[in-house]
Amino acid sequence: MQIAEDPPSPPERGQGEGLKIQIDLRPSPGASRRPLPEGEGQKRLLRSDHPPYAFGADTPPTRRGELVYFILAILVAGFLSSAAAQGPSYDVVIRNGRIVDGSGSPWYRGDVAIRGDTIVRVAPSIADAATRILDAAGEVIAPGFIDIHSHAREGIFESPAAENYIRQGVTTIIEGPDGSSPLPIAEFLARLDFLPKTINIGTMVGQGSVRAAVIGLADRKPTAGELARMRTLVEEGMKDGAFGLSSGLFYVPGTFTSTDEVIELAKVAARYGGIYISHMRDEASKVSDSVQETIAIGERGGLPTQVTHHKIIGTGNWGKSSETLRLVDEARKRGVDATIDQYPYTASSTSVGAALLPAWAQEGGREKVLARLKDPGLRADIKAEMTRSIQNERGGGDPKNVVLARCEWDESLSGKNLADITRMRGMDVTLANAAEAAMWIVERGNCSGIFHAIAEDDLRRILRHPATMIASDGGIPIFGKANPHPRNYGTFARVLAVYVRELNIITLEDAVRKMSSLPAQRLGLTDRGLIRPGMKADIAVFDPARVRDAATFEKPHQYAEGVSTVIVNGRIVLDGGSMLGVRPGRVLYHGR
Ligand SMILES: [Zn+2]
Repeated sequence: MQIAEDPPSPPERGQGEGLKIQIDLRPSPGASRRPLPEGEGQKRLLRSDHPPYAFGADTPPTRRGELVYFILAILVAGFLSSAAAQGPSYDVVIRNGRIVDGSGSPWYRGDVAIRGDTIVRVAPSIADAATRILDAAGEVIAPGFIDIHSHAREGIFESPAAENYIRQGVTTIIEGPDGSSPLPIAEFLARLDFLPKTINIGTMVGQGSVRAAVIGLADRKPTAGELARMRTLVEEGMKDGAFGLSSGLFYVPGTFTSTDEVIELAKVAARYGGIYISHMRDEASKVSDSVQETIAIGERGGLPTQVTHHKIIGTGNWGKSSETLRLVDEARKRGVDATIDQYPYTASSTSVGAALLPAWAQEGGREKVLARLKDPGLRADIKAEMTRSIQNERGGGDPKNVVLARCEWDESLSGKNLADITRMRGMDVTLANAAEAAMWIVERGNCSGIFHAIAEDDLRRILRHPATMIASDGGIPIFGKANPHPRNYGTFARVLAVYVRELNIITLEDAVRKMSSLPAQRLGLTDRGLIRPGMKADIAVFDPARVRDAATFEKPHQYAEGVSTVIVNGRIVLDGGSMLGVRPGRVLYHGR
């Protein structure tokens, strides 16, 4: 009995820690937000404070029993503490990588340790234990890529694995581009929140959607009341977590919006620290005016401004990127925070109607478009303008340069070009007949198209600009369906393969910067886009000698290759080239 009466000697440090582990009854961090049902915590305490009767259920504890229990407790505590000491320090450690940290600095050799959803250590060598150790074997460890211009609104619900993105190393996408967003944003984000998904996603609020909600597709100025209502919708969008205001001034109804009207809405986004990002009014003959307008909206609206998917459309306009980039440089010199994003292809993609019909013919919506096409006089006017557009703008001067991506009313037309359709309609292939064929397409139900009308020289010049980031303008297509633009599958990998490795247009480090820290900085995502302790563990591991886009215009449904491992919020989603079924993606809200 002597032992029992002596106070126990103080436990050794390790034991103390073990004991603390054993009696720590707080819920685990993951469960901390959910309070225990009433009485539950108390019950647990009771259970723990009073050991199970060691010598028979009905026997009350004796002093001997207490003693035995006490010794057992110390032994168990000691065991637990030594287990804790030997247990993993980290959840994931990636070893032997070439770290391209996203800042643009030269790569360096090192290991990266992750705990929970966070990068906790970056060092030349991390030998500590980890639940999972990945050997990068000299491959690049980069921040997960961020796509600031994505059309994944429907695709994310159809394919929440977002394999086309993950296999390029993309871990965050931003929806609501080109002036088009769901309204209200909160509802969309709540649905996304509920959806188990592999990738992170946020959104912009769309100026065109806001205008359509208030005054429809009419070509007129808003009244003071309507403008106030539009301001309120933008404000709601920003409060709901939008990253800024997007516009599509090329499209209906954006095209009916004056610069001043956009500025009034931009000012609202500015108050909430958002950005302005624009598919410009004109990317062809008036592209320089459009860049000036985009800069003016940032300058007078008081917010960062971005030319999205910058390109020069139409053979007669090729080369104008020298001037547009000069305009951006001049703006930046006088303190306007103007930037650019771009995808690395010489073809664009949008609907045939939106691309080739004059804006005035699109006013009011589809019924009105069809009525105008039935009116012989208006039809002749439309045809003349479409002919000009095929000649000088998105048609790239040849009906062959317009390829149908998807026609919901006849899937067999996917992949056929406008010259094929013209012939199918029994006509010789002339520009005017191609316009006739395009009008027929619009009447039948419209198609999405791919427009080969961009020069490689302009693409390279824009890519080299330090304020240019990479964005896909793609989405999450249904694998194997229709003939979408290869940018959906290849954008980020193509930059690394073609423009870094093959052509040496930009360095690997600069390419990664354009895909990670630059868009993160643009969005105000201060905890993503860099490989640094404290950042969220969004990571792409790829072989710089092997990474490549496999998708082509002819065979777009091909995943990018060479990205071996992708981690989203600390969870491995692509493991040694295999997609795992985990869904750690989160909704990202601006300013939260
Ligand atoms: Zn666009």
